[in-house]
Amino acid sequence: MRICLLCQQNSIESNLLDWLFDFTGHEKYLCQKCQQQFIPINPQTACPGCGRKQAVKKICQDCQSWAKNSSQQLLNNRALFCYNLQMKKYFEKYKFQGDYQLRLIFQKKFQQVIKQIGNKKIIIPIPVSPTTWQQRGFNQVEGFLAGTDYLDVLIVKPDFFKDSQSHKKRYQRLALPQPFTLKSQINLQQKDCLLIDDVYTTGRTLYHASKVLQAAGVSSIKSLTLAR
Ligand SMILES: [Zn+2]
Ligand SMILES: [Zn+2]
Repeated sequence: MRICLLCQQNSIESNLLDWLFDFTGHEKYLCQKCQQQFIPINPQTACPGCGRKQAVKKICQDCQSWAKNSSQQLLNNRALFCYNLQMKKYFEKYKFQGDYQLRLIFQKKFQQVIKQIGNKKIIIPIPVSPTTWQQRGFNQVEGFLAGTDYLDVLIVKPDFFKDSQSHKKRYQRLALPQPFTLKSQINLQQKDCLLIDDVYTTGRTLYHASKVLQAAGVSSIKSLTLAR
């Protein structure tokens, strides 16, 4: 009998319905109860800018004010799940307690969606800083990408994040200068790119990353996050 990776209490039952609906591919690792608390986002009605869950497809308030105040084009972000309490718990265990096996829960879903929207694109994960890497021992975004070809072309400028980004207040984060740079010797001219990140919060991280890629001459950029 296998035990749920997340709550580590309930056993995992296979359910015919999971298979029929191809819920998300994480049925192998989660109990029924934990699984149900992740809320998938329907891409048909999500905000075309940030991927936020909505009942009707339209540019959301956040994206509208972004578009007004920025010269950068709106990102075309696809988010897989809502950032709710369950997702918060997940990230606490995965990122902050460093439970690396939790990457398995969403790997298959990433594979499926990247196959759909990332075809012939260069898959580029958002990097973590060397400090975070030392503390955590892994890049949580690359953890989702097993079985997927990706290029780690972005790096965090040395010593950019002195403190962990997630502990900064929202307004501080908005004011952050460009944290990323490209590894040298990499030619991205005329390439179509798909950026991958864990969470879309303000969008700042992805907008910074896309700016670097634009400067490198790519022809298009989309992004995919686990949560919004
Ligand atoms: Zn569970
Ligand atoms: Zn939006």
